[in-house]
Amino acid sequence: MKILVLNSGSSSIKYSLFDMLDLRVLASGMVEKIGEIQSLHKYCIRHIDGNIQEMVESQSIADHQYGLKNIIQQMQQSKVLAHATDLSAVGHRVVHGGEKFHQPTLIDENVLSEIRKMIPLAPLHNPANLTGIELMMQFADNVPQVAVFDTAYHQSIPEHAYLYAIPIELYEQDSIRRYGFHGTSHYYVAKQAAKTLDKPLETLNLITLHLGNGGSVTAIKQGESIDTSMGMTPLEGLIMGTRSGDIDPAIPYYLNQNKAMSNEDINNMLNKNSGLKGICGENDMRAIHAMADAGDKSAERALDMYCYRIKKYIGAYFAVLGRVDALVFTGGIGENDSRVRAKICDGLELFGISIDPNKNEIRDGEIKDIKGSQSTLSILVIPTDEEMEIAMQSMSFVKTEKDS
Ligand code: AMP
Repeated sequence: MKILVLNSGSSSIKYSLFDMLDLRVLASGMVEKIGEIQSLHKYCIRHIDGNIQEMVESQSIADHQYGLKNIIQQMQQSKVLAHATDLSAVGHRVVHGGEKFHQPTLIDENVLSEIRKMIPLAPLHNPANLTGIELMMQFADNVPQVAVFDTAYHQSIPEHAYLYAIPIELYEQDSIRRYGFHGTSHYYVAKQAAKTLDKPLETLNLITLHLGNGGSVTAIKQGESIDTSMGMTPLEGLIMGTRSGDIDPAIPYYLNQNKAMSNEDINNMLNKNSGLKGICGENDMRAIHAMADAGDKSAERALDMYCYRIKKYIGAYFAVLGRVDALVFTGGIGENDSRVRAKICDGLELFGISIDPNKNEIRDGEIKDIKGSQSTLSILVIPTDEEMEIAMQSMSFVKTEKDS
Protein backbone atom coordinates (compact mmCIF):
# COMPACT_ATOMS: atom_id res chain seq x y z
CA MET A 1 0.00 0.00 0.00
CA LYS A 2 1.74 3.17 -1.24
CA ILE A 3 0.75 6.72 -0.34
CA LEU A 4 2.26 9.80 -1.93
CA VAL A 5 2.34 12.99 0.15
CA LEU A 6 2.59 16.28 -1.74
CA ASN A 7 3.32 19.77 -0.50
CA SER A 8 2.87 22.06 -3.51
CA GLY A 9 4.25 25.57 -3.10
CA SER A 10 4.25 28.49 -5.53
CA SER A 11 7.63 27.52 -7.03
CA SER A 12 8.30 24.11 -5.51
CA ILE A 13 6.81 20.66 -4.94
CA LYS A 14 7.97 18.61 -1.96
CA TYR A 15 7.06 14.92 -1.93
CA SER A 16 7.41 11.67 -0.01
CA LEU A 17 6.33 8.20 -1.06
CA PHE A 18 5.46 5.87 1.83
CA ASP A 19 5.01 2.14 2.01
CA MET A 20 2.25 2.08 4.62
CA LEU A 21 2.64 -1.62 5.42
CA ASP A 22 5.91 -1.00 7.24
CA LEU A 23 5.65 2.82 7.47
CA ARG A 24 8.80 3.18 5.38
CA VAL A 25 9.77 6.13 3.19
CA LEU A 26 10.50 4.71 -0.27
CA ALA A 27 11.42 8.00 -1.93
CA SER A 28 11.37 11.66 -1.11
CA GLY A 29 12.49 14.87 -2.71
CA MET A 30 11.74 18.31 -3.91
CA VAL A 31 11.45 20.11 -7.22
CA GLU A 32 12.57 23.68 -6.64
CA LYS A 33 12.68 26.92 -8.62
CA ILE A 34 9.82 25.93 -10.91
CA GLY A 35 9.54 28.42 -13.77
CA GLU A 36 13.19 29.49 -13.53
CA ILE A 37 15.85 28.60 -16.12
CA GLN A 38 17.77 26.37 -13.69
CA SER A 39 15.20 24.35 -11.75
CA LEU A 40 16.41 21.63 -9.39
CA HIS A 41 15.07 18.17 -8.66
CA LYS A 42 16.64 16.81 -5.48
CA TYR A 43 15.59 13.26 -4.70
CA CYS A 44 16.42 10.45 -2.39
CA ILE A 45 15.58 6.79 -2.92
CA ARG A 46 15.71 4.49 0.11
CA HIS A 47 16.41 0.90 -0.89
CA ILE A 48 15.12 -1.97 1.20
CA ASP A 49 18.69 -3.00 2.14
CA GLY A 50 19.07 0.39 3.84
CA ASN A 51 21.04 1.93 0.97
CA ILE A 52 20.20 5.55 0.34
CA GLN A 53 20.70 7.04 -3.09
CA GLU A 54 20.66 10.84 -3.24
CA MET A 55 20.77 12.82 -6.47
CA VAL A 56 20.28 16.33 -7.76
CA GLU A 57 19.23 17.06 -11.33
CA SER A 58 19.34 20.53 -12.76
CA GLN A 59 17.09 21.30 -15.71
CA SER A 60 14.40 23.74 -16.74
CA ILE A 61 11.04 22.84 -15.17
CA ALA A 62 8.58 25.29 -16.70
CA ASP A 63 5.52 24.61 -14.56
CA HIS A 64 3.96 22.39 -11.88
CA GLN A 65 2.59 19.98 -14.49
CA TYR A 66 6.07 19.28 -15.80
CA GLY A 67 7.41 19.17 -12.22
CA LEU A 68 4.93 16.50 -11.15
CA LYS A 69 5.51 14.47 -14.31
CA ASN A 70 9.21 14.61 -13.53
CA ILE A 71 8.60 13.35 -9.97
CA ILE A 72 6.44 10.44 -11.17
CA GLN A 73 8.95 9.51 -13.88
CA GLN A 74 11.76 9.54 -11.33
CA MET A 75 9.84 7.18 -9.05
CA GLN A 76 9.11 4.89 -12.01
CA GLN A 77 12.76 4.82 -13.13
CA SER A 78 13.82 4.01 -9.58
CA LYS A 79 11.23 1.22 -9.55
CA VAL A 80 9.55 2.39 -6.35
CA LEU A 81 6.28 2.98 -8.20
CA ALA A 82 5.08 1.33 -11.43
CA HIS A 83 2.32 3.80 -12.26
CA ALA A 84 0.65 6.80 -10.59
CA THR A 85 -2.65 4.90 -10.58
CA ASP A 86 -1.02 2.21 -8.39
CA LEU A 87 -1.04 4.65 -5.46
CA SER A 88 -3.50 3.83 -2.68
CA ALA A 89 -4.00 7.53 -1.94
CA VAL A 90 -2.40 10.93 -2.37
CA GLY A 91 -2.27 13.16 0.72
CA HIS A 92 -2.04 16.89 -0.01
CA ARG A 93 -0.88 19.46 2.50
CA VAL A 94 -3.36 22.34 2.30
CA VAL A 95 -2.42 25.41 4.30
CA HIS A 96 -5.81 27.01 4.92
CA GLY A 97 -9.03 25.15 5.61
CA GLY A 98 -10.79 28.09 7.29
CA GLU A 99 -13.63 27.10 9.62
CA LYS A 100 -14.95 24.57 7.15
CA PHE A 101 -12.43 21.77 7.60
CA HIS A 102 -11.73 20.17 10.99
CA GLN A 103 -10.56 16.82 9.64
CA PRO A 104 -8.64 15.33 6.72
CA THR A 105 -11.09 15.38 3.82
CA LEU A 106 -11.57 13.34 0.66
CA ILE A 107 -11.33 15.81 -2.22
CA ASP A 108 -14.16 16.22 -4.71
CA GLU A 109 -15.38 19.18 -6.78
CA ASN A 110 -17.17 20.61 -3.75
CA VAL A 111 -14.04 20.48 -1.57
CA LEU A 112 -11.98 22.05 -4.37
CA SER A 113 -14.43 24.92 -4.54
CA GLU A 114 -14.28 25.41 -0.73
CA ILE A 115 -10.45 25.48 -0.83
CA ARG A 116 -10.71 28.04 -3.64
CA LYS A 117 -12.97 30.20 -1.46
CA MET A 118 -10.21 30.27 1.18
CA ILE A 119 -7.68 31.86 -1.24
CA PRO A 120 -8.13 35.40 0.19
CA LEU A 121 -7.05 34.01 3.60
CA ALA A 122 -3.94 32.28 2.19
CA PRO A 123 -3.15 33.95 -1.15
CA LEU A 124 0.41 32.59 -1.29
CA HIS A 125 -0.37 28.99 -0.38
CA ASN A 126 -3.85 27.78 -1.30
CA PRO A 127 -3.55 28.47 -5.08
CA ALA A 128 -0.36 26.37 -5.28
CA ASN A 129 -1.92 23.62 -3.12
CA LEU A 130 -4.88 23.57 -5.53
CA THR A 131 -2.62 23.30 -8.57
CA GLY A 132 -0.96 20.20 -7.08
CA ILE A 133 -4.33 18.61 -6.28
CA GLU A 134 -5.83 19.28 -9.72
CA LEU A 135 -2.80 17.88 -11.52
CA MET A 136 -2.67 14.76 -9.38
CA MET A 137 -6.36 14.20 -10.03
CA GLN A 138 -5.44 14.02 -13.73
CA PHE A 139 -2.32 11.87 -13.29
CA ALA A 140 -3.85 9.45 -10.79
CA ASP A 141 -7.44 9.18 -11.84
CA ASN A 142 -9.57 7.14 -9.39
CA VAL A 143 -6.94 7.35 -6.64
CA PRO A 144 -8.38 8.95 -3.45
CA GLN A 145 -6.97 12.47 -3.08
CA VAL A 146 -7.01 13.66 0.54
CA ALA A 147 -6.62 17.21 1.82
CA VAL A 148 -4.88 17.57 5.20
CA PHE A 149 -5.20 21.12 6.49
CA ASP A 150 -2.59 23.02 8.53
CA THR A 151 -5.42 24.80 10.30
CA ALA A 152 -7.58 21.75 11.13
CA TYR A 153 -6.06 20.79 14.50
CA HIS A 154 -6.65 24.32 15.81
CA GLN A 155 -10.38 24.29 15.10
CA SER A 156 -10.92 23.29 18.76
CA ILE A 157 -9.68 26.73 19.93
CA PRO A 158 -12.57 28.41 21.80
CA GLU A 159 -14.16 31.65 20.67
CA HIS A 160 -12.61 33.80 23.42
CA ALA A 161 -9.16 32.81 22.11
CA TYR A 162 -9.78 32.91 18.36
CA LEU A 163 -11.66 36.22 18.12
CA TYR A 164 -9.80 39.51 17.69
CA ALA A 165 -11.14 42.55 19.55
CA ILE A 166 -12.12 44.40 16.36
CA PRO A 167 -15.69 45.05 15.12
CA ILE A 168 -17.44 41.68 15.25
CA GLU A 169 -18.79 42.10 11.69
CA LEU A 170 -15.26 41.56 10.46
CA TYR A 171 -15.47 38.04 11.86
CA GLU A 172 -19.07 37.43 10.88
CA GLN A 173 -18.80 38.75 7.33
CA ASP A 174 -15.11 38.45 6.49
CA SER A 175 -14.03 35.46 8.63
CA ILE A 176 -11.23 37.48 10.27
CA ARG A 177 -10.13 35.42 13.29
CA ARG A 178 -7.22 33.35 14.59
CA TYR A 179 -6.87 30.09 12.65
CA GLY A 180 -3.36 28.95 13.61
CA PHE A 181 -0.99 26.90 11.45
CA HIS A 182 1.55 24.05 11.75
CA GLY A 183 -1.45 22.06 13.06
CA THR A 184 -0.24 18.78 11.53
CA SER A 185 3.11 19.15 13.29
CA HIS A 186 1.65 20.17 16.68
CA TYR A 187 -0.76 17.22 16.53
CA TYR A 188 1.94 14.75 15.44
CA VAL A 189 4.35 15.69 18.25
CA ALA A 190 1.50 15.74 20.79
CA LYS A 191 0.67 12.12 19.85
CA GLN A 192 4.36 11.17 20.07
CA ALA A 193 4.56 12.87 23.50
CA ALA A 194 1.60 10.79 24.68
CA LYS A 195 3.33 7.59 23.48
CA THR A 196 6.58 8.59 25.16
CA LEU A 197 4.88 9.45 28.45
CA ASP A 198 2.73 6.31 28.12
CA LYS A 199 -0.49 8.24 28.79
CA PRO A 200 -3.58 8.82 26.63
CA LEU A 201 -3.33 12.12 24.74
CA GLU A 202 -6.81 13.06 26.03
CA THR A 203 -5.38 13.27 29.56
CA LEU A 204 -2.40 15.47 28.72
CA ASN A 205 -1.78 19.21 28.89
CA LEU A 206 1.14 20.22 26.69
CA ILE A 207 2.91 23.28 25.37
CA THR A 208 4.29 22.39 21.93
CA LEU A 209 6.94 24.62 20.39
CA HIS A 210 7.44 24.25 16.64
CA LEU A 211 10.62 26.25 16.05
CA GLY A 212 11.84 26.23 12.47
CA ASN A 213 12.17 28.95 9.88
CA GLY A 214 8.53 29.60 10.73
CA GLY A 215 7.60 29.15 14.38
CA SER A 216 4.52 28.70 16.54
CA VAL A 217 3.55 27.64 20.06
CA THR A 218 0.37 25.76 20.92
CA ALA A 219 -1.40 25.27 24.26
CA ILE A 220 -2.90 21.76 24.28
CA LYS A 221 -5.48 20.89 26.93
CA GLN A 222 -6.54 17.26 27.27
CA GLY A 223 -5.20 16.59 23.80
CA GLU A 224 -6.91 19.51 22.06
CA SER A 225 -5.46 22.79 20.83
CA ILE A 226 -6.95 25.62 22.91
CA ASP A 227 -4.68 28.45 21.77
CA THR A 228 -1.83 29.02 19.37
CA SER A 229 0.50 31.87 18.53
CA MET A 230 -0.11 32.17 14.77
CA GLY A 231 -3.25 34.02 13.81
CA MET A 232 -5.35 34.70 10.75
CA THR A 233 -2.06 34.34 8.87
CA PRO A 234 1.29 32.78 9.82
CA LEU A 235 2.68 36.27 10.54
CA GLU A 236 1.48 36.58 14.15
CA GLY A 237 3.22 35.30 17.25
CA LEU A 238 6.87 34.32 17.64
CA ILE A 239 9.85 36.03 16.06
CA MET A 240 10.62 33.87 13.01
CA GLY A 241 13.37 33.62 10.37
CA THR A 242 12.06 36.50 8.29
CA ARG A 243 8.64 37.25 9.88
CA SER A 244 8.16 39.80 12.63
CA GLY A 245 5.59 37.92 14.72
CA ASP A 246 3.66 40.15 17.16
CA ILE A 247 4.03 43.89 16.68
CA ASP A 248 1.92 46.90 17.62
CA PRO A 249 -0.86 46.88 14.98
CA ALA A 250 -0.45 50.67 14.63
CA ILE A 251 3.02 50.29 13.10
CA PRO A 252 1.81 49.59 9.51
CA TYR A 253 -0.30 52.77 9.63
CA TYR A 254 2.67 54.74 10.93
CA LEU A 255 4.92 53.41 8.15
CA ASN A 256 2.33 54.23 5.53
CA GLN A 257 1.90 57.78 6.82
CA ASN A 258 5.50 58.64 7.64
CA LYS A 259 7.73 56.46 5.49
CA ALA A 260 5.72 56.49 2.27
CA MET A 261 5.53 52.70 2.32
CA SER A 262 2.68 51.07 0.39
CA ASN A 263 0.61 48.18 1.79
CA GLU A 264 2.61 45.88 -0.48
CA ASP A 265 5.94 47.25 0.84
CA ILE A 266 4.82 46.82 4.45
CA ASN A 267 3.52 43.30 3.87
CA ASN A 268 6.79 42.31 2.20
CA MET A 269 8.83 43.87 4.96
CA LEU A 270 6.92 42.10 7.75
CA ASN A 271 6.99 38.71 6.01
CA LYS A 272 10.35 38.65 4.25
CA ASN A 273 12.69 41.19 5.83
CA SER A 274 11.80 41.14 9.50
CA GLY A 275 12.24 38.57 12.28
CA LEU A 276 15.80 37.37 12.87
CA LYS A 277 16.82 38.65 9.43
CA GLY A 278 15.53 42.14 10.19
CA ILE A 279 17.40 42.27 13.48
CA CYS A 280 20.79 40.86 12.46
CA GLY A 281 20.69 40.39 8.69
CA GLU A 282 20.64 36.58 8.88
CA ASN A 283 17.71 34.17 9.24
CA ASP A 284 19.53 30.84 9.55
CA MET A 285 19.95 30.03 13.24
CA ARG A 286 23.28 28.21 12.71
CA ALA A 287 24.74 31.30 11.04
CA ILE A 288 23.37 33.50 13.84
CA HIS A 289 25.18 31.41 16.47
CA ALA A 290 28.39 31.64 14.44
CA MET A 291 28.03 35.42 14.26
CA ALA A 292 27.29 35.69 18.00
CA ASP A 293 30.29 33.45 18.80
CA ALA A 294 32.44 35.83 16.77
CA GLY A 295 31.23 38.72 18.91
CA ASP A 296 28.51 40.15 16.66
CA LYS A 297 26.23 42.19 18.94
CA SER A 298 23.29 42.21 16.52
CA ALA A 299 23.27 38.38 16.46
CA GLU A 300 23.35 38.29 20.28
CA ARG A 301 20.45 40.72 20.35
CA ALA A 302 18.51 38.60 17.85
CA LEU A 303 19.01 35.50 20.03
CA ASP A 304 17.94 37.40 23.16
CA MET A 305 14.79 38.70 21.47
CA TYR A 306 13.95 35.32 19.90
CA CYS A 307 14.15 33.40 23.19
CA TYR A 308 12.46 36.14 25.22
CA ARG A 309 9.38 36.10 22.95
CA ILE A 310 9.10 32.29 23.30
CA LYS A 311 9.46 32.57 27.09
CA LYS A 312 6.56 35.05 27.21
CA TYR A 313 4.31 32.62 25.33
CA ILE A 314 5.31 29.74 27.60
CA GLY A 315 4.33 31.87 30.63
CA ALA A 316 1.03 32.84 29.04
CA TYR A 317 0.16 29.26 28.13
CA PHE A 318 1.01 28.06 31.64
CA ALA A 319 -1.57 30.55 32.87
CA VAL A 320 -4.09 29.32 30.31
CA LEU A 321 -3.52 25.61 30.99
CA GLY A 322 -3.05 25.60 34.77
CA ARG A 323 -1.21 22.28 34.74
CA VAL A 324 1.40 21.33 32.15
CA ASP A 325 2.63 17.75 31.74
CA ALA A 326 5.31 18.47 29.14
CA LEU A 327 7.00 21.13 27.11
CA VAL A 328 7.71 19.78 23.62
CA PHE A 329 10.44 21.14 21.32
CA THR A 330 10.28 20.40 17.59
CA GLY A 331 11.22 21.90 14.18
CA GLY A 332 14.76 22.53 12.85
CA ILE A 333 15.71 24.78 15.78
CA GLY A 334 13.62 23.04 18.46
CA GLU A 335 15.07 19.63 17.57
CA ASN A 336 18.71 20.59 17.04
CA ASP A 337 19.59 23.73 18.91
CA SER A 338 20.54 22.92 22.51
CA ARG A 339 21.70 26.49 23.16
CA VAL A 340 18.32 27.96 22.22
CA ARG A 341 16.49 25.33 24.28
CA ALA A 342 18.66 26.12 27.32
CA LYS A 343 18.23 29.88 26.88
CA ILE A 344 14.45 29.56 26.61
CA CYS A 345 14.20 27.41 29.75
CA ASP A 346 16.67 29.46 31.77
CA GLY A 347 14.78 31.30 34.54
CA LEU A 348 11.61 29.23 34.23
CA GLU A 349 12.38 27.17 37.38
CA LEU A 350 9.33 28.72 39.08
CA PHE A 351 7.18 26.85 36.56
CA GLY A 352 8.96 23.63 37.46
CA ILE A 353 11.07 23.74 34.29
CA SER A 354 14.72 22.75 34.42
CA ILE A 355 16.91 21.04 31.85
CA ASP A 356 19.59 18.41 32.33
CA PRO A 357 22.56 20.03 30.51
CA ASN A 358 24.06 16.68 29.48
CA LYS A 359 20.83 15.22 28.09
CA ASN A 360 20.22 18.53 26.31
CA GLU A 361 23.46 18.09 24.33
CA ILE A 362 22.64 14.61 22.96
CA ARG A 363 21.72 14.88 19.27
CA ASP A 364 20.75 11.52 17.83
CA GLY A 365 17.46 12.26 16.07
CA GLU A 366 15.57 10.21 18.67
CA ILE A 367 12.80 11.35 21.02
CA LYS A 368 14.29 12.42 24.37
CA ASP A 369 13.19 13.76 27.73
CA ILE A 370 15.83 16.33 28.69
CA LYS A 371 14.30 17.31 32.03
CA GLY A 372 16.63 17.81 34.97
CA SER A 373 16.18 16.19 38.37
CA GLN A 374 14.38 19.28 39.72
CA SER A 375 11.92 19.52 36.83
CA THR A 376 8.28 18.81 37.68
CA LEU A 377 7.33 18.31 34.03
CA SER A 378 8.84 16.52 31.07
CA ILE A 379 10.83 18.53 28.54
CA LEU A 380 10.65 16.53 25.34
CA VAL A 381 12.58 16.91 22.11
CA ILE A 382 10.55 15.24 19.37
CA PRO A 383 11.47 15.22 15.67
CA THR A 384 8.39 16.27 13.74
CA ASP A 385 7.22 14.35 10.68
CA GLU A 386 4.41 16.20 8.98
CA GLU A 387 4.67 14.01 5.87
CA MET A 388 4.18 10.82 7.87
CA GLU A 389 1.24 12.38 9.69
CA ILE A 390 -0.38 13.37 6.37
CA ALA A 391 0.19 9.82 5.05
CA MET A 392 -1.39 8.30 8.18
CA GLN A 393 -4.35 10.66 8.02
CA SER A 394 -4.83 9.78 4.31
CA MET A 395 -4.88 6.05 5.13
CA SER A 396 -8.47 6.16 6.34
CA PHE A 397 -9.60 7.01 2.80
CA VAL A 398 -7.86 4.09 1.12
CA LYS A 399 -10.38 1.86 -0.62
CA THR A 400 -10.18 -1.72 0.54
CA GLU A 401 -11.45 -4.84 -1.27
CA LYS A 402 -14.47 -4.69 1.03
CA ASP A 403 -15.39 -1.14 -0.13
CA SER A 404 -15.42 -1.98 -3.82
P1 AMP B 1 12.91 24.08 9.56
O1 AMP B 1 12.13 25.24 8.99
O2 AMP B 1 12.12 23.28 10.56
O3 AMP B 1 13.59 23.24 8.54
O4 AMP B 1 14.10 24.76 10.43
C1 AMP B 1 15.05 25.60 9.85
C2 AMP B 1 15.85 26.26 10.96
O5 AMP B 1 16.46 25.27 11.78
C3 AMP B 1 16.97 27.15 10.44
O6 AMP B 1 17.01 28.38 11.18
C4 AMP B 1 18.21 26.33 10.74
O7 AMP B 1 19.34 27.16 10.97
C5 AMP B 1 17.81 25.66 12.03
N1 AMP B 1 18.66 24.52 12.32
C6 AMP B 1 18.78 23.37 11.64
N2 AMP B 1 19.75 22.60 12.20
C7 AMP B 1 20.25 23.29 13.26
C8 AMP B 1 21.26 23.06 14.23
N3 AMP B 1 21.96 21.94 14.23
N4 AMP B 1 21.48 24.02 15.16
C9 AMP B 1 20.79 25.16 15.15
N5 AMP B 1 19.81 25.45 14.26
C10 AMP B 1 19.55 24.53 13.33
